[in-house]
Amino acid sequence: MDEKGNILHSYGIYAQPLPQAPTEYIHVLQQQEEALIAICRKLNQSNDEQVETALTKYFHPAHLIGKQPVQFHCGCSKEMFYGVLYAMNQQELAQYVTDQRSIEANCHICGKIYSFSPAEIKKAL
Ligand SMILES: [Zn+2]
Repeated sequence: MDEKGNILHSYGIYAQPLPQAPTEYIHVLQQQEEALIAICRKLNQSNDEQVETALTKYFHPAHLIGKQPVQFHCGCSKEMFYGVLYAMNQQELAQYVTDQRSIEANCHICGKIYSFSPAEIKKAL
């Protein structure tokens, strides 16, 4: 983070063994978590060769095969959450319409909140 609290970079380790890969690589990853996090912390200050050298200490040999920026994306939409309405008890939905109350659905992936008005709830009845 910078002095204003903005996130400048973050890191994570994603490992997916290729078919036929020795399973001990996953155990090595788990056992060397702290060392790998230290490597990740230096990614911005390291060139590819330095990263490969650092990783080769744990994986023989390590080769960077690509880099790409990552960003968080959630593909949720309000339409996806209509299924929640259809799964609810019909009497309960009718009560929301009668009381003129909305129903809020929260996406557990991105945190977006979708609100369904009594008119929208009525369509699910
Ligand atoms: Zn979402």
